[in-house]
Order: sequence, then structure tokens, then C-alpha cells
Amino acid sequence: MARLANVLEKLGVRRGDRVATFAWNNERHLELYFAIPCMGAVLHTLNLRLPADQLTYIVAHADDHVLFVDPTLLPAIEKLAPQFKSVKHYVVMSDKVPEGTTLKPVYAYEELLANASPDYPWPHLDENEAAAMCYTSGTTGHPKGVVYSHRSIYLHSLGLGLIDSLGIAEHDVFLPVVPMFHVLAWGTPFATVMLGTTIVFPGPHLQPRDLAELIQAEKVTMTAGVPTLWLGLLALLDKERYDLSSLRGLIVGGAAAPQSMIEGFEKKHGLKVIHAWGMTETSPLGTVSRLKSYQELWSDERRFALRAKQGISVPGIEIRAVDESGREIPWDGKAFGELQVRGPWVISSYYHDDRSAESFMDGWFRTGDVVTIDDEGFVQIVDRTKDLVKSGGEWISSQELENVIMAHPKVLEAAVIAVPHPKWQERPLACVVPKPDFKDNLTKAEIYDHLRTRFDKMYLPDDIVFVEALPKTSVGKFDKKVLRAQYKDYQLPEA
Ligand code: AMP
Repeated sequence: MARLANVLEKLGVRRGDRVATFAWNNERHLELYFAIPCMGAVLHTLNLRLPADQLTYIVAHADDHVLFVDPTLLPAIEKLAPQFKSVKHYVVMSDKVPEGTTLKPVYAYEELLANASPDYPWPHLDENEAAAMCYTSGTTGHPKGVVYSHRSIYLHSLGLGLIDSLGIAEHDVFLPVVPMFHVLAWGTPFATVMLGTTIVFPGPHLQPRDLAELIQAEKVTMTAGVPTLWLGLLALLDKERYDLSSLRGLIVGGAAAPQSMIEGFEKKHGLKVIHAWGMTETSPLGTVSRLKSYQELWSDERRFALRAKQGISVPGIEIRAVDESGREIPWDGKAFGELQVRGPWVISSYYHDDRSAESFMDGWFRTGDVVTIDDEGFVQIVDRTKDLVKSGGEWISSQELENVIMAHPKVLEAAVIAVPHPKWQERPLACVVPKPDFKDNLTKAEIYDHLRTRFDKMYLPDDIVFVEALPKTSVGKFDKKVLRAQYKDYQLPEA
């Protein structure tokens, strides 16, 4: 790490300067996670899956000085480099500079390190100085920058370690599947190093079979990622045998963990899902769905329903939900409003962005998630504000419908979107991906029969379309923006 700090200084990096990474989850990336902030600069992890125009905007907005890139990702950066005006140096994260690269000036990571001094006079930094940053893509406009301080990262790491939160510990073998460019792999690289945990990196190998093999071979005890990944793993485990008995926690966040998935892992495979909610703006840990001691005694049905909720706020995070007139809603599990949060690892503004003010109300950060909160303090996300289906005067939760459809044994994935309707303004349309074995053997009637056991007629989707795959966002969630655009002129049967 000291060698790397010396390298950065030689490349002209000074206190507060931004240093970008464009890399998978691997060990050199971890070294950068520590050397950059500890020498006083700011680690800026670029999202590998963003379109070119957004990456160009982000690099310019952050004013990145140096860019570290994985050798396998070189072609993408070579294409964009002419637009990266602020970047003065490129470093390829490899032993040698790959032949024929068009990047200039460019160096090889290991060569720079081998020639650097192993001692570095680490500066004494103020805890409020910037340590890292990520950009989050909104629905409209440019991505917004979120800056984390040394203080916020440290306190968030303590939060991740609390037993009733994620409870990561020294004896764990931790596999961060969530990319290191998605909210800093949910802060887990910092927490695991702080706690002395063993880390296993997946590199670019993120298919269900890769993950099952890695967990089995390395005896991974905890792992974390978005539900789409785990839906794939569950489908694999239902068909093929792996010994994943070392796993004591599968942390699921970033999108709702369907109750059927939580039950599937636990009842069929003895694997425990830990469902958590968070955002780029909240570092991300906000709530965790862990049962309290007396709730453990409840019926199976009640326990699993509770664990499918997003959970209670972790110590340090305050929550409230506010209705359209700005009044706080009661914690009765029925009324719903926008979730607002505050705490030491929640942002107080976006980085150099005029749009900041609209995301705050009296010092509370407005999440844009519509929720209920029950008398046990459990938050349940009904939808993102923009994903709710507004049918006549009623609001229909796309997320609830999706979760029930995904509980059907023949369904792999489902996303529900609003489609314009002449009479009701909007009505739900379900886009469903059958499991591979049921591709030609799943009918709309089967899904409707299954939905009718849970929903009144007015909540049922007006139509169901079967698709081969659902579009995913840059961090692997269902991309409803793309689906909405695709089906904006869709003719619903009775419309
Ligand atoms: P991002 O900043 O990209 O991680 O996105 C944050 C958003 O993801 C939140 O505002 C939620 O809408 C969604 N999200 C995160 N965790 C969950 C969860 N456990 N259940 C439902 N939605 C979630």
C-alpha cells in the first residue's frame, strides 16, 4: 500500500484529487481502495456498465486525474480516452503494459509498484475529508455524485459489523459479488479489512455456476449481491448439487428479495437470506430485516412475510415516512408515504450539483421509495415513486405483483410496469421470464390463477407477456425504464 501511495504521488496526485478505477472485484482494486484515500486523495469507482456519454460526463464532473483500468477492460477505455480531458495518466492493472494499447501516457501497475519505495509518510487526515465517491444514475438528467468521508466510511463499517445488522466477523470468508463500483461494493471491502475477515474476489465471473463453484471451493461463509443473481443461483441449486453448507448468510439488497426466494433458499437448501435495504446516498446500509427474539417464535408464514420486508433501521440511521402533504404517516403497516432518512453515513448534498435541494426536507434525505412502516418498525417498500401504477384513483404496487409472480414455480423473473390506459390512466402489464425448463410450458392462465389467490381483480395485470430475458440496469436490477419505453404503445386487451 505504501508503494502504491508513492506511485500516486509521483503521478502528481495531491490531497483531495480524484483517482478513478475501472475494474472488476479483485485484489489490486482492493489495494487502490486503501492507498488512494489513505494518502489523502479520493477513490472514484467508475461503473463499468454505463453508456459512453455518462462515463464521459462523470469523469469530467469528478475531474479525475489518474485512471486505473483492468487489462480486460482496456478496449472500452481506449475508445473513451480522447474525451477524458482531465485524465493525465493511465495505469493498467497488470504486470506489463499490453502491447498496442492506444492509451498515453500509460504504465503497468506492477512495474510502478516494483520501482516504488516501500515507505510512505502517511498524512494525518481530518475525518471529514473526502475519501471516496460514486455516481448514481437517476431517471432523468446526468448522474449525481455522492462523496463519502473517512468518518462516514468508518462509522458505516462499524454498522456493517454489528451482530444484528450484517454481523460480518473476523472468522468469515466474505465474497462480495456486488461490484466494487456499486456503492463501493456496499462498503464491504472497508468493513472486512477493518474486521480482519478473509475476502474472496469473483473477478468478472458472475454466472450462477461460477458463484456456486467459488463458494464451494473457498468455503465462503457470507456473500452479498442483488436479487437477480440469487434468483439464478437458486434455479441452479434446484437442479444441480453443490455443497454450500459453509454459507451462513446470503445478503440480498439493491432490489426487493422476493419472499419465495427467501423461502426457497432456506427450506430447500438450508441457506439463510439476510434482506437489507440501502442506496448509494446512504453508503448504502439503511435497514436490515432480522427478526427480533420474540418474532422467531411466530408461525412460518408470519416470519417469512416479515423477512421479505426491508426491515428495521440499523443503529445510527433514523427513518420516517411522509405523505404527499408533508405529514409523517403512522407506523401502522398500512398508510404509505415517502421514506426519509438521516444519519452519519447519509449524504447531506450531492457533489457540486444544483439539484441537491429537491432531495432534502428539513435535513432529511428523501429516498424516493414509497413505504409502509409497521408497529414493529419494519419498513416495507411498496415501490419507487415512479414505478407505482396509478389506476383510476388507486395505486397498485408493481413490486408486490412481481414478488407473487416470481413465487410461481415455473417463473424465473418478472417485472410489472404501468402502461397507458384510456379509462384508468394506467394499468399493470407483467413481463415474465419462464425458467428454462418451462419455456414452452407456462401459460398466462396459470399465472392468473396463481395471482387470484392473493389479489382482487382490480390489482391483476391487464396482460402478461412472456420474454426471454428482462433488461437489467448497470448494477443488475430490472430496468423498468427500458421496459416502459418498449411497451409504451402496448395495446392492452380491453383498452
Ligand atoms: P442504488 O443507489 O442504485 O443502490 O439504488 C437504491 C434503490 O434501490 C433504493 O432507493 C430502492 O428503490 C432500491 N432498493 C435497494 N434495496 C432494496 C430492497 N431491499 N428492496 C427493495 N428495493 C431496494
